[in-house]
Amino acid sequence: MQSPAEGKKVAVIAGAGPAGLTAALELLRRSDITPIVFENDSQVGGISKTVNHRGNRMDLGGHRFFSKSDWVMRWWQEILPIAAGEIDPQRPVRINYQGKSNELTPSAFAANSSDAVMLVRQRLSRIFYRRRYFDYPLKLNASTLRNMGLVETLRIGLSYGQAQLSHRSPEISLEDFFVNRFGDRLYRTFFKDYTEKVWGVPCQEISAEWGAQRIKGLSVTKAIAHAVASPFRSDTDTSQKQTETSLIERFLYPKYGPGQMWEEVARRLTAMGGNLHLCHRVIGLERRGVDITGVVVRDNRSGTARHIPCDHFISTMPVRDLTRMLEPDGAGIIEIAQKLPYRDFMTAGLLLKKMRSENPRSYRSSKNGMPPDNWIYIQEPDVKIGRLQVFNNWSPALVLDPNTIWLGLEYFCREGDELWSMTDGRFIDFAARELEKIGMVDRSDVLDGTVVRVPKAYPAYFGEYREFDKIRAYLDTFTNLYPVGRNGMHRYNNQDHSMLAANCAVDCIMKAGRGKSAIWDINTDEDYHEEVDDVA
Ligand SMILES: Cc1cc2nc3c(=O)[nH]c(=O)nc-3n(C[C@H](O)[C@H](O)[C@H](O)COP(=O)(O)OP(=O)(O)OC[C@H]3O[C@@H](n4cnc5c(N)ncnc54)[C@H](O)[C@@H]3O)c2cc1C
Repeated sequence: MQSPAEGKKVAVIAGAGPAGLTAALELLRRSDITPIVFENDSQVGGISKTVNHRGNRMDLGGHRFFSKSDWVMRWWQEILPIAAGEIDPQRPVRINYQGKSNELTPSAFAANSSDAVMLVRQRLSRIFYRRRYFDYPLKLNASTLRNMGLVETLRIGLSYGQAQLSHRSPEISLEDFFVNRFGDRLYRTFFKDYTEKVWGVPCQEISAEWGAQRIKGLSVTKAIAHAVASPFRSDTDTSQKQTETSLIERFLYPKYGPGQMWEEVARRLTAMGGNLHLCHRVIGLERRGVDITGVVVRDNRSGTARHIPCDHFISTMPVRDLTRMLEPDGAGIIEIAQKLPYRDFMTAGLLLKKMRSENPRSYRSSKNGMPPDNWIYIQEPDVKIGRLQVFNNWSPALVLDPNTIWLGLEYFCREGDELWSMTDGRFIDFAARELEKIGMVDRSDVLDGTVVRVPKAYPAYFGEYREFDKIRAYLDTFTNLYPVGRNGMHRYNNQDHSMLAANCAVDCIMKAGRGKSAIWDINTDEDYHEEVDDVA
């Protein structure tokens, strides 16, 4: 490990995901503090990494690069410029994402031959329900009526009308929230199974308040609700106008997946003299009173542990782990932290020769049956899969052989549950059987498969999260500690929020620790909540 130059201050950073790497690069750009990054994994990117399986690249979730923040948009483009030919430089494109938009005025275009580029992608995602494809956003058109059947559509309409006449009061649970807004039939048809699949908790056990804050961000909910409620809504309702702006969504996407962004940042970081250590886990903290004086790191390959002194400590590791390492006096804080809820995530990469062709009227699948979507919401109650990613449609460069179809089958689960504990071989077989069951593939067409498990993919806002303010107040007592990022702050962040928090932490370090509350203020305004869509 290279020692920082004599007399130079050191910031140790736990985690080389978007937050940790942004903090490190900004420290190098804007200060003379030496960042030393320790990453537990053998590659950078955190949840936003790209996994390379025998030349086929997987994105864990499908990461759209969009931000309301111009700072973030420019930052990304400075690392990976937009590929030449993606947009007309004379006519800047407005890119939209969940009703938010940003004028894309590229800071630079890459040379035609460069692979270090971002693409501009247009979103297509549909809903798969009753073994049929429904448009996204759902429209009350002939195709939807055909798919749902006239009788069922009328039933949904009646139940919606009923709910408007007799509201459940008081509105306590998420079920009450849904039924009051969309009617019982629609709730049971579309929302109940998907929400419970995602969060693993019955809708009666989730608070209505949580729904009010978060559920409107779930695209399936939003799409169906708007479509079904629209005939019953008065013309003066302004929310309809807002929906229109989000119909066409465009986003940036690195040619080789999200991890390419973070690999490039890591390359620059080391070129500028920063230290990055993969396969190193922060396992302990040393402190004198309210100052962090050093960390203990373990080299995962050799098993040896070392003490590293530091002047500042930026943590992107889960709040649970950070709090345990700080050894708070008294049981209260540690008990809350240990019970903070999470939802975990698994994805099976399946490589296929072909898929069974759908019979759409409005879209054409390709010759080998590949659907045109970036991803598909699977709303079928008889399978566990939540979403299906079609990686070819994110970027053709993710797929080694363009004649094959490279899919990501996404499952929401709990660390240690039945799905999580399956061997990789069994899980791949299980996932392939599920796709066969709903009529999308024949298992005999599967050429290869792999599994990626993502623990703590979703910091959740139930249970002990109610007491999170106490944890925050405790963490804020430390003078040189900066928790940032998704799990680092237990926040339902997209990459941009994690980056903004990291950048803000660098501001605070440069102001001798002042202004920490600005870090916690990122991603708390209502507007930003809506941007968190599709259980990202
Ligand atoms: C399914 C899914 C879809 C998503 N889609 C989008 C999207 O479309 N657009 C978007 O912008 N965002 C999306 N996100 C969110 C995005 O993945 C995260 O916001 C982002 O990766 C968070 O970055 P981070 O650095 O805060 O945390 P992480 O990515 O979690 O990185 C934290 C890093 O810290 C490391 N670490 C943890 N503990 C230790 C330790 N003790 N010692 C050393 N290292 C440690 C971890 O290994 C990890 O690499 C999605 C997320 C999911 C789960």
